[in-house]
Amino acid sequence: MELKQIMKGINDKFPHLPERIAGLRKLTYNLWWSWHPEGRELFKLLHRQGWHLSGHNPVKMLNQMDAHMLKVASNDTHFLRHYDSVMARFEGYMEPETSWFCAGSREPERCAIAYFSAEYGLHHALPFYAGGLGFLAGDYLKECSDLGIPLVGLGFMYPQGYLRQMVSADGWQIGACEMLDRENAPIHKVLDGDGNPLSVKVPVMDPPLTLEVWMVQVGRTKLYLIDTSSEANESQNRIISDRLYTGDREMRLRQEIVLGIGGARVLRALGEDYSVLHLNEGHPAFAVLERIREKVEQGMNYSEASELVRNTTVFTTHTPVPAGHDAFAYPLLEKYLSSYLPTLDLSMEEFLRQGLNPDRPGEFNMTAFALRNSAYRNAVSKKHGEVSRSMWQPLWPHLPVDEVPIDYVTNGIHVPTWIDRRLGYDIFSRYMGRTWLEEHDESRIWELVCEIPDEIIWNHHNAMKNMLITKIKERARNKWLEGGAEPGQIMASGVLLDPAALTLGFARRFASYKRPTLLLQDMDRLRRILNDPWRPVQIIFAGKAHGDDQQSKMLLQQVFNAAKDRVSGGRIAFVEDYDELLAQYLVHGVDVWVNNPIPPMEASGTSGMKASVNGVPQLSVLDGWWIEGYNGKNGWAFSGADDGLQRDAKDAASIYTLLEKDIVPLYYNLGEDGIPHGWVTVMKEAIRMNGPNFSATRMAKEYTDKFYRQAIDAAMMERQKKERGFVKQDLFGRF
Ligand SMILES: *Cc1c(COP(=O)(O)O)cnc(C)c1O
Repeated sequence: MELKQIMKGINDKFPHLPERIAGLRKLTYNLWWSWHPEGRELFKLLHRQGWHLSGHNPVKMLNQMDAHMLKVASNDTHFLRHYDSVMARFEGYMEPETSWFCAGSREPERCAIAYFSAEYGLHHALPFYAGGLGFLAGDYLKECSDLGIPLVGLGFMYPQGYLRQMVSADGWQIGACEMLDRENAPIHKVLDGDGNPLSVKVPVMDPPLTLEVWMVQVGRTKLYLIDTSSEANESQNRIISDRLYTGDREMRLRQEIVLGIGGARVLRALGEDYSVLHLNEGHPAFAVLERIREKVEQGMNYSEASELVRNTTVFTTHTPVPAGHDAFAYPLLEKYLSSYLPTLDLSMEEFLRQGLNPDRPGEFNMTAFALRNSAYRNAVSKKHGEVSRSMWQPLWPHLPVDEVPIDYVTNGIHVPTWIDRRLGYDIFSRYMGRTWLEEHDESRIWELVCEIPDEIIWNHHNAMKNMLITKIKERARNKWLEGGAEPGQIMASGVLLDPAALTLGFARRFASYKRPTLLLQDMDRLRRILNDPWRPVQIIFAGKAHGDDQQSKMLLQQVFNAAKDRVSGGRIAFVEDYDELLAQYLVHGVDVWVNNPIPPMEASGTSGMKASVNGVPQLSVLDGWWIEGYNGKNGWAFSGADDGLQRDAKDAASIYTLLEKDIVPLYYNLGEDGIPHGWVTVMKEAIRMNGPNFSATRMAKEYTDKFYRQAIDAAMMERQKKERGFVKQDLFGRF
C-alpha cells in the first residue's frame, strides 16, 4: 500500500490549521519532534501554556487551540521563521541522501526487517509499555530511523494502556486503567484505498477475527499497531488487545496468536515487503508460522519453508526469570491451532515438540519455540548470554554449554531521547563539537568530556535536581488539591525533599527479583545515614507493581510506609505513577541511580544507562549491563552475596557500607569553590564510559552487522535461485 494512502489518515486532522502552517499536521503525527529539541521548541513557541497543559503532546495541543490562536501564529513572522527552519530540517531528515545503513548495503528497499514486539515505550502520550522491554523496543525504532535501517515495527494498540497508579493512605497500590484518548494521541488509523479503516482477518479464531490497524510514524520508521476493538468482532474478541499482559492464560494465548499470526497478515495486507523477521521476546513468535504458511501456500513443502524462514529470523530473549517465559497448556493450543496447522503441513505433534522445554515437559514454551525457529538468537548482555546458554542448553543436548548457539547484543539507549536538552545541546555541543551526536558511538569524542569545567557540570546537575524536586512537589500539590489524600500520604510523596541533600533514586518496576525493599533491610542503620544533620541523604522511590502481583504490591506498601513514617523525616519519598515523563526527570536529576536485583536476574537493565549518560553514576550489584559498564571509576559496585538466608542482609550491608565509606564522604567533600571535584570526576567518567558503549547506535549497528546482513544475504540467495530458474517461478512469494 502506498504511503500516500496511509497518510490520508491524517489529512482530515486539525481542520482549523491555516495553510501557511499546514506542515504542522505531518510534524505532530511524527514522533521525530520528541527527540529533536528544535521540534519541541517549535511547539513551545506556538503556545507555551498549551504545551504545558497538553502534557507535552502536540496532537492534543493543536486540538485544544482554537482557529484564532492558530491564525495568529500563521501571521507571526518570528514563529514562521522557526517554523520554516524546523520544517526544512524535518524534511531533510525524512528524505536523506544517504544513511549509515545504505552506505554499506545494496537495494535497501528489498531487504526490510519486520520487528515484532508486544510493547513499545515511545512517549508518555502512548502508554503501550510496562517497562524495560518496551523502552528497548521504542528506543530501537528511533535508532533505526536515525541510521536508515529499513525496519517496520508491529505491535498492539492497547486502548487501556498500562495501569495508572495510585497508592491509598495505607500504601496499597490501586490501579486505575486510563483509557487512551485516541483522538489526542499521535496515532492514526490506517485506511484502505476507499478511505475506510483497513481491516484484516485472522482466520484462526472462530468466528474469524477482524483487525484494524493504527500507525505511529517514528521518524522514518513506521510502527503498525493492531486493534481488535472493531464492531465486527464478538465481545470476547473485542477485548483481546484491551491491555498489556493480562494474567488470564487463554486471553494471553489469544493475544499472542493475534500479535504473531495476525501481525504477519497485517503486514501482508499493507504490502509491507520484508525479508527478515526480528522477534523481540517470545510473545510474537507465532509470526514464523504465518510466514511458513505463506510459503507453503506458494508451493513449498513444510521443511523447505521452515528452513527458509529460520534462516531469515532473528530472536532476542530478554529474561532469565523463568516466569518471564510464556508457556501454555497443550489443550489450549489444540483448541486454537488444530485447524490452522494443517494449512502449513505441520502436525500438532511436531508443533508441540518445537515448543518443548525439556526442563518442564507438558507445556508449550514460546521461548523454546522461538529458539528452534530462528537462526540468529541473542541475549541482551554478556552475562545474560552466559545465563541463557546454560538455561537453554537442554535444547542442544549434544553441545557443551558454552557452544550453545545464543549470542548476545548488549542493550543500549537512544541517546537523543534520554539526554537532557541543555546538557546535550548546550554543554556537549560546546565542548565535544556540534556534531557529537552524529558519531556518538565513537569513544574518542567522549574523551572531550574531561574538558568541561567542573563548575558547568555541577551547576547544570543542580538545576536538574531542582527541576526534579519542583516537579515532584507539583504532583503532590495537585494530589492534595484534588482531595481525598491524607496529610501523611502527601508527606510520603516527597514534599520534604531537600535539593541540597545527596539524593538516591530507585525507580523501576516493582518485581520481587528487583528487591525494591533491599535498602530498607536495616532501618536503624539506614536512618542514621539519612538523618545525619551534616551530611543528609534522601531516597526517591517510584515504580509500579503488576496488577495481579500481590507480593510486589506488598513490597510497594513496605516502601510507602517507610516513606510515610515520621522517623524517616521525609527523607524517603515514594512518587506515584512512574512513567516516561517521570523517568526523564529522575534520570536527569537524582545524584545516584540505585539498582540491586538478585543476580543474575537482571538481563540487562537500561535505566542506569539513561542516568549515566546524564552524569548520574550508578550504584549497582554486578549484574546485567553493569558487569560490562563498571570500570571502578564511573560509579559503585558490589558483587552480591551467595544465595542463602543472609543474602539480602549481606547485600544491604554492602550498600550501607559503600554509602558510609565512599559515596557520602565524596559527595560532601567540597573544594574551596563549593564544588565537590572528586564527585564531578565520577560524573564525567559515567558520561564518558556510557556515551559510546551503551548507546542504541552501537546496539543497532551490532544487530545489523551480526544478524541482519547475513539474514538478508540468505534471503537474497533464495531470490537469486528463483530468478535463475532453479525453482519454479511461482514457488516463492516475496519474502
Ligand atoms: C528505562 C525505563 C524502564 C526500564 O528500566 P530498567 O532499568 O530496565 O528497570 C522502565 N520504565 C521506564 C519508565 C523507563 O524509562
